[in-house]
Amino acid sequence: MRDEGIGVSLRLTVTLRHARQLPIIMIMFSRVSGMNNMIMKQVGRLGYFRRHVSTLLPYLTMRKLSNLILNIIEHRLVISSPRSLPPYVKIEPTPLCQLRCTGCQQSEDNFTATLRHDMHMPVDRFRRILEPLAPTLMGVSLSYRGEPLLGRGILDMIECAHELGVAVSFPSNLSMPITAQRAERLVKSGVDTIYISLDGASARTYEIYRRGGRFDLVLKNVALLAETKCRLGRARPRLIWKFVAFEHNRHEMPEVKQRYRQYGFDSYEIVRDVDSAEIVASKRRRFKDLREKRRGCFWAWNTLTVAENGDVHPCCAVDHSGHSLGNASAGDILSIWRGAAYTGLRQAFRTGKPEEMFPSCARCLGHRARSPAT
Ligand code: SF4
Ligand code: SF4
Repeated sequence: MRDEGIGVSLRLTVTLRHARQLPIIMIMFSRVSGMNNMIMKQVGRLGYFRRHVSTLLPYLTMRKLSNLILNIIEHRLVISSPRSLPPYVKIEPTPLCQLRCTGCQQSEDNFTATLRHDMHMPVDRFRRILEPLAPTLMGVSLSYRGEPLLGRGILDMIECAHELGVAVSFPSNLSMPITAQRAERLVKSGVDTIYISLDGASARTYEIYRRGGRFDLVLKNVALLAETKCRLGRARPRLIWKFVAFEHNRHEMPEVKQRYRQYGFDSYEIVRDVDSAEIVASKRRRFKDLREKRRGCFWAWNTLTVAENGDVHPCCAVDHSGHSLGNASAGDILSIWRGAAYTGLRQAFRTGKPEEMFPSCARCLGHRARSPAT
């Protein structure tokens, strides 16, 4: 009851302007009080909502909005052959990354052994995937497994997405040399939002997780992008400081709020480490709920994920099984979205039969996965 009361009063006093301060408040608050779930969910959603709306609004059409609404309804009803198209898509410019962050598959030999230096999605493949989805698409994130800015075609992809009327964002570690010309081309490309991974307010804490990353280089690049935007009179890209809160850097969270503007960021986002006890417990509850109440996982309806080679996956969950829902280089993306593999994946949430589940979904729901594809 005490939690409910505080949650209500917080929700009433929050404004969109204050939303950017809330991630810090909610994490600090949960640490001293030991209570978190409801308040954190509501407040976190508000900040998330504010950031995403400002990115997507300039591209919004009635067709996109009605597709989104239909998609939400079809997901809620666990309709395995939805009439709606995915409101979001993730497309991977490259699976390569120059860092080896602790906990990322880039630090696992069995993943890096599969990579080749020529793994860059060609722009014509990107266009072929995006074009049929664009009229109903809320946004594209140029991301999946690697560092997007290493993708050779990324600037052309941004321009292509805008030509098709789609908002574009991507995450970046930004820990690579960026020349003034490259910064100018990036700003002029019109990319809407860049989420910059900087998990520390000092080099010492930052470099614990971001192995191979350089704190000073990231800040130098943020300053260069901010200065370039200012010189060209551009409001975009919005530069978001993305801070993953681990035990070793939590004490620096207040500094994010104090310093983000000084460094050149427009905003910040604090998220918890996916391996933290709270996130693991919350995921366990969510998947138990999906399993027991036969609900559909959000990702299987809302977001289509495409790897550099065109393989389509239901989400960005790590999956070494070799399964995919089809290949968008060879086939048409709409046929994949409406095809037997995707329909079967969604249907399995309703039937709850582990043997019918896509392997990574079966794992999420706590079942033994099928053996890898041959
Ligand atoms: S920057 Fe991202 S993709 Fe690269 S190693 Fe770190 S977490 Fe993985
Ligand atoms: S792998 Fe997990 S997160 Fe991804 S769609 Fe399946 S159940 Fe959802």
